[in-house]
Amino acid sequence: MALGLAGMALAAPAPAMQDVAAEAVERANLLPADVAWLDHPAYRWKHLQTEHFLLHHDQKIFAAKVARMGEQFYEAISADLPNLQDRASPARSHVFILRDPRDWQAIVAGTPGMETWAASFVRGNVMYLQETGSGVADKMETLAHEMTHLVFNRFLPVRLPLWLNEGLAEYDGEFAYRAAKGMGQSKGQAFRPLKTWTPLAELLAATAYPAEPAAVARFYATSKYLVGYLLLKQPRARWEAFFARLLAGAPALPALLETYGWADVAAAEKAFARFAR
Ligand SMILES: [Zn+2]
Repeated sequence: MALGLAGMALAAPAPAMQDVAAEAVERANLLPADVAWLDHPAYRWKHLQTEHFLLHHDQKIFAAKVARMGEQFYEAISADLPNLQDRASPARSHVFILRDPRDWQAIVAGTPGMETWAASFVRGNVMYLQETGSGVADKMETLAHEMTHLVFNRFLPVRLPLWLNEGLAEYDGEFAYRAAKGMGQSKGQAFRPLKTWTPLAELLAATAYPAEPAAVARFYATSKYLVGYLLLKQPRARWEAFFARLLAGAPALPALLETYGWADVAAAEKAFARFAR
């Protein structure tokens, strides 16, 4: 897949963007750990802001692409959450962009509990984005995934189970990106048969990522396919009912099984297998 960036600019008008002086940077929704990176003497951040995002960067060209994509994602994702308020507004979400792999290692090492394989991550209202990979596609896929987390965190008042959080980031990241670029949503192509997947009993109960890299990849893929199955193959009303229960604070597993009419996880897996295979 060849992903040019030109199409993004054509798909939507460029959002208003402005450079911000260091002393004018909003700090209200930063954690102490984020403030420490912002003020770290080794980094000479420059700052760029749009309506919903504040980027800390040392190279404006990529930062401006991130800002533009952020606003497009904000539009696309918030349109899918009509009953939810942006709880962070008017505060902006922050994005730290790191280009030097050594800087990235410092961020990972300085973040307790961070997985060493993390290519980028979101914590609350802040994204730490590594400008990584050789191709534009790599960078944009990572960004699309993390941007989904960042936007969801503005709207969702509850913590989603791990599989749903990652599955939605994989699913929305891909489709919101394609939509923002004016590309077709060839969902059949996105859901080619899955050779192996994480057993749902394991996936649905997971509160931490698997230890093995191959198992991590499988976990993300299974999460994306399960979200795809629920959104594409099941009535939309069920999805809305399931989500409403989560927002009301119901535990996810019983809410899932009851809403979709599955007696147990094995029944869910049987239905899922017909989609995934
Ligand atoms: Zn994620």
